[in-house]
Amino acid sequence: MKVGMKIRYQPPRSLREPPASIPSELEVQAIWFEQLHQSVLTTDDGRTVEIIQPGFWNHGGGPDFTQTAVRFAKEGRKDKEITVGNVEVHLRPADWNAHGHDSDPAYDNTILHVVWEARGKSFFPATSSFRRVPQIVLGSQLLASWPELQPLCASVLHYPLPASTPGRCSPVLDELPKERVTDILRAAGTFRLRQKARRWFWRRHLTSPEQALHEALAEALGFHANQIPMRLVAQRLPWTKLRSLDANSRLAHLFGLSGFLPGESTAKLRTEPKTWLRKLWEIWWKARGELDYALLPRSQWKLAGLRPLNRPERRLAALAQIVPKIPALRQAIEAVDADRFGKILLSVGDPFWEKHATITGTPLPSSCRLIGEERVHDILINIFWPMVSLDDPEAAQRGLSAMTMASNGAARIASQRMLISALSPKAMREALIQQGLLQIFRDYCQTDCSQCRNCTFPELVKSWER
Ligand code: SF4
Repeated sequence: MKVGMKIRYQPPRSLREPPASIPSELEVQAIWFEQLHQSVLTTDDGRTVEIIQPGFWNHGGGPDFTQTAVRFAKEGRKDKEITVGNVEVHLRPADWNAHGHDSDPAYDNTILHVVWEARGKSFFPATSSFRRVPQIVLGSQLLASWPELQPLCASVLHYPLPASTPGRCSPVLDELPKERVTDILRAAGTFRLRQKARRWFWRRHLTSPEQALHEALAEALGFHANQIPMRLVAQRLPWTKLRSLDANSRLAHLFGLSGFLPGESTAKLRTEPKTWLRKLWEIWWKARGELDYALLPRSQWKLAGLRPLNRPERRLAALAQIVPKIPALRQAIEAVDADRFGKILLSVGDPFWEKHATITGTPLPSSCRLIGEERVHDILINIFWPMVSLDDPEAAQRGLSAMTMASNGAARIASQRMLISALSPKAMREALIQQGLLQIFRDYCQTDCSQCRNCTFPELVKSWER
């Protein structure tokens, strides 16, 4: 700049940043969510695909959209069946492998890989079971140019991001007084409570109340990832067998049958795990023969992505300690005493497993309860009150109404779809109402493949109005 030269103020040419030449991955997801593309798209395997519903937008781990419904067509001939599954969105085809989806079974149900652009070498995405995933290049199949669509996408990209658009039932529910909406949700929650109770009723009838409780608690300790193997363990090592064993034998049987007793040399282990393991192997090598037929392969367990505190080893250790407490837990159910039931579970302890997440790994930074308060809260909702409802349905309904429950993914989608804005935040936290949302989501939203067109829930609500 020359000395003495006058500098004049230059106004900006535009108040807005010019749109980026290509969208971000989140913006491509927003295009898909808002369906700002042609209604029939072309795939890279020579087919066309009609998008019936874009699916639920998943903002956590796993595929970007679930429950997407589409109809493929080849040479003008439409498939008879609608295809329902997940959709994964990326900017470019090779991102599929770069993000490890080619070897992740969580992506096996992907029915479409949607990318913004595909330049250069061809790339065909495949699942971990070697199925080719049809791919759509969205950038060339939009309703308008990207700069024109960008403001529309921006309007949905506010946090918290939506998971679904409002459903056909939303205006119907909106016309009802809020007490009526609450009644409907509580009725759906009570129905869910009975469904759960019915399951335990049959297990109790076929086995015994203690065995039904043993299986129910094992399943609940397995969280979502390991519910089935935990239930199998409780069935293959029934309560009557385990209660006849001392504490170390219970651990040896549970860990041995589940495949969690490492067979390799223990020479490199620290003293504490080495002593623990040696003690258990001394019991297990003699007991193993009669349970050989029932051993669970390690592949049954889902370990990837689990927080250390949720590892199945800690859950098995908790189950071993719960076994002698089953009669006391039963008494708490009979006395409809949720506090006592919760306190018994919170008191479950194991000096080794409170400090470890695995046998061979480094100890936890600090000692942690085997069953925390959050898990106990879930167990009260999913096991205690359903079991109480077998003998005293009204007490169970009152008990669940008095509890609060954080909205999980499915309940959040359901409340977004139904737009239940009339309900107070306090009512929305009520466990019975949250259970009702989950039941409606499961029975209607999750089975619908018509973007609400064929769902009968709105008509059902209208019929209740009369
Ligand atoms: S599928 Fe049925 S219950 Fe779900 S949002 Fe649509 S109309 Fe409502």
